[in-house]
Amino acid sequence: MLNMRLAQPKALVDINGLVALATLGPLETNLAGVAAQGPGAAFLEVGALVRQRQLERYALEEERTRLIHTALTYVGHPQTRNQGTVGGSLAHADPSAELPLLFLTLGGTAIIQSTRGERQVAAEQFFQSYFTTAIEPGEMLTKTLWRLPVPDEGMAFKEYRRRHGDFALLAAACTIKLGSDRKVQHVRLGLGGLADTPLLVDEVRELVGEHWAKERARAIAGAVVNRLDFADDYQASSSYRRQLASVLIASVLEAAYEDALAKEDLLCEH
Ligand SMILES: Cc1cc2nc3c(=O)[nH]c(=O)nc-3n(C[C@H](O)[C@H](O)[C@H](O)COP(=O)(O)OP(=O)(O)OC[C@H]3O[C@@H](n4cnc5c(N)ncnc54)[C@H](O)[C@@H]3O)c2cc1C
Repeated sequence: MLNMRLAQPKALVDINGLVALATLGPLETNLAGVAAQGPGAAFLEVGALVRQRQLERYALEEERTRLIHTALTYVGHPQTRNQGTVGGSLAHADPSAELPLLFLTLGGTAIIQSTRGERQVAAEQFFQSYFTTAIEPGEMLTKTLWRLPVPDEGMAFKEYRRRHGDFALLAAACTIKLGSDRKVQHVRLGLGGLADTPLLVDEVRELVGEHWAKERARAIAGAVVNRLDFADDYQASSSYRRQLASVLIASVLEAAYEDALAKEDLLCEH
């Protein structure tokens, strides 16, 4: 923003010295309402100053954080991820950015602090419009808590961009949990690059309690693209975006379902 002279602040505060904001690891604090989300719920606590590259490497180590790792490999370039922070990306709230999409899809909580105290904001309320979040003047984001999928939860991330390192033309993230009868128990699908904020897709709730069927995924993709508005811009026509969204939604649902099946097979083997 500074480089392109889109932002010309009168004062710039360097927060790089706040080492307390650079912590990364499993959630250990017992924040009311966050930790108490039932058995199996686990959270990753990410300080606002954690570099994107640091989280990308950390997330490679564990299956439950794999979706975070995958999405981060799409963020800019290794050089920008070495410098860019997780908090900076979320606070910047570019509607095409990968981390906001993932934060919303997984179900995260932002911890915001000011001299008045600390408050928690769920990802669903955090992103308010283009480059606008729930952070008020005088407040800052100190850390974020990311819900991690349970071990047998399927997950997938898909993105289409014109060149490597570009922001997404469209991105989609999905998690699916199957029951022992292989019916869908829980599903979340998020889309980025389509509106002023990343979006959670309500239509996928129709899958809950049902056996998976490819046709249902395609029908849901069709219903979503019929509901949403698509605009022409210098990158793509509205009809191109509509077609892309339809394909991406169906394919991310399918990939997450396949991942859930593969995990179920793995768990059965052990
Ligand atoms: C060439 C290039 C390609 C890129 N490609 C992508 C891409 O594909 N996908 C993508 O998602 N991003 C991309 N980016 C963006 C980049 O990766 C960073 O995520 C983004 O610029 C934020 O950088 P930063 O952490 O330095 O935050 P800053 O630029 O320092 O801050 C961004 C905004 O957030 C505010 N802010 C920062 N930290 C806090 C805080 N703790 N509390 C409150 N407000 C805060 C700042 O005041 C500012 O308004 C790209 C950047 C470049 C240069």
